[in-house]
Amino acid sequence: MRADIALLPGDGIGPEVTAAAVEVLRAVGARHGHDFRFDSFDIGGIAIDRHGEPLPQATLDGCKAADAVLLGAVGGPKWSDPNARVRPEQGLLAIRRALGLYANLRPVRPHAATIGASPIKPHLLAGVDLLVVRELTGGIYFGDKTRDAEGASDRCYYSVAEVERVMRRACTLARARRGHVTSVDKANVLETSRLWRDVATRIVRDEFPDITLEHQLVDSMAMHLIARPRAYDVVVTENMFGDILTDEASMLAGSLGLLPSASLGEGTVGLYEPIHGSAPDIAGKGVANPYGTILSAALLLRHSLGMAQEAACIEDAVDAALSDGAFTADLASDGRAMGTAEATLAVLSRID
Ligand code: ATP
Ligand code: MG
Repeated sequence: MRADIALLPGDGIGPEVTAAAVEVLRAVGARHGHDFRFDSFDIGGIAIDRHGEPLPQATLDGCKAADAVLLGAVGGPKWSDPNARVRPEQGLLAIRRALGLYANLRPVRPHAATIGASPIKPHLLAGVDLLVVRELTGGIYFGDKTRDAEGASDRCYYSVAEVERVMRRACTLARARRGHVTSVDKANVLETSRLWRDVATRIVRDEFPDITLEHQLVDSMAMHLIARPRAYDVVVTENMFGDILTDEASMLAGSLGLLPSASLGEGTVGLYEPIHGSAPDIAGKGVANPYGTILSAALLLRHSLGMAQEAACIEDAVDAALSDGAFTADLASDGRAMGTAEATLAVLSRID
């Protein structure tokens, strides 16, 4: 099968980790008889430098024409002036909006070999395998904002349709997993959360009777996520709660560098990126952990190209590399760390 993949390497370590993922995708494509074509476009700080805007039209057109988008990271100290007219992060928000990406998926599955790198006790982490689905286009981040001398306000709004589509997505994903959905809200105080809970209950009752639905308040969920992370399968929540809970969940895995994400919409064009940022402190040194981006490429194969077997092939290769101690500096405790290239080779040599 032929597939066109738009590459947005971005800033900092972005180009280093996307290059690693491309090598792995090429290897898997060759092994399984696929013709993956890659086209690179500017986004973020580098796009500001070259084109004066964080999301040039050519980048947007290239992404819309592709089957999927693989992104590195955007931003860095060079563009971090809060008063600047244009900022790298605007490019990311704009591309998500333009592609209609409303569901952000973050799988968290601590690997036995890296559990020691997490600040959480190892016995709590063994067997953890959860997927956080964060609503990405609505809620308080996008509501009207006001500010005057007396104070300020942010409006939080969700339409029924916005909650329905993300709930359906979460339930569909849960069907392919263990069939358990935890919906997180703050229904004891927020009207948007009461709507969220009502819609969740109705969608599961009417359309997904095979799914077990549990409701949790976000404050207790923040606690449970650390205290008993094994209890969860799919966790679905609104934009701001998801922002906070996904960062919390990432601590379960040991290093930011290990975690992939997928952003999906109505269409098939999804956007895939590691959850870490551009890591300016280590950019250009060849030491960045490439696994989060390589695992994002696996999600790309699974969710945008329907290649579940090829995705598993990448995930198994990363698992095997980690089991054999192929650690980058963020994971290694004994000072014997691999660089990005060596870690990528460790994965490549385990692709079969
Ligand atoms: P952003 O605002 O873009 O999310 P950030 O400042 O929150 O960025 P990161 O850029 O992710 O965070 O960096 C946080 C820390 O994690 C840094 O010390 C960075 O070096 C480290 N880090 C992030 N990604 C990786 C990686 N892939 N490999 C190794 N270390 C990483
Ligand atoms: Mg960050």
